[in-house]
Amino acid sequence: MPKKIAAGNWKMNGTRASLPDAMAIAATPAGDCAVVLCPPATLLSQMGTEGLALGGQYCHPNASGTHTGDISAPMLADAGATYCITGHSERRADHGESDADVCAQTEAAWSAGLVAILCIGETLAQREAGETLAVLTAQLNGSLPNGATAENTVIAYEPVWAIGTGKVASPDQVAEVHDALRAQVGPEMSLLYGGSVKAGNAAELFALENVNGGLVGGASLKAADFAPIITALA
Ligand code: PEP
Repeated sequence: MPKKIAAGNWKMNGTRASLPDAMAIAATPAGDCAVVLCPPATLLSQMGTEGLALGGQYCHPNASGTHTGDISAPMLADAGATYCITGHSERRADHGESDADVCAQTEAAWSAGLVAILCIGETLAQREAGETLAVLTAQLNGSLPNGATAENTVIAYEPVWAIGTGKVASPDQVAEVHDALRAQVGPEMSLLYGGSVKAGNAAELFALENVNGGLVGGASLKAADFAPIITALA
């Protein structure tokens, strides 16, 4: 059975004033569901790991070197992370990260012992052109390195048009994609949906056969918002 995972992506949000929210999230009963919080790197080493796992939001392909402002997978691991998001659409758009870049980052995450949460997703134009499954297959083929297993990789399907927009993909749209992904990655790998997940829509999405959890942005910042999403999965 794929592992159930509720992952929160805090993006460029959060200071030490946010630590009580992380503690409250960690204290939320989660049953057999893993709770993963991906805060800004500045907060990683300040968060406890009781009740949750920690993740980075990106890692450089190299372990160290002359890359001002970047962060490496061994550094994330040293700060307490056991997961790392790779290929988030905001990184692909803001930093021009290609599938090949994401592939190299994912390998770097594995090398440091981190589980990669590899994100793929289509734009609205691609969906409207009927290209969704072809785009996702190409992204997966280009960014998932050889050697991916259910132990080292989680796939997050995040339609770009649903991220931070309040527009959530319909259960039918999510099911179509997740069923296709399941056929490609095998029976054990966790498949997360991401894109405007909130308390009001989480249960319906998590009830889908091949949805094993969520990658949650805005609604993961406050324990009051994230806790009911965790409960819907647990
Ligand atoms: C995300 O950034 O991964 C995400 C899904 O964001 P939101 O939940 O805010 O749409």
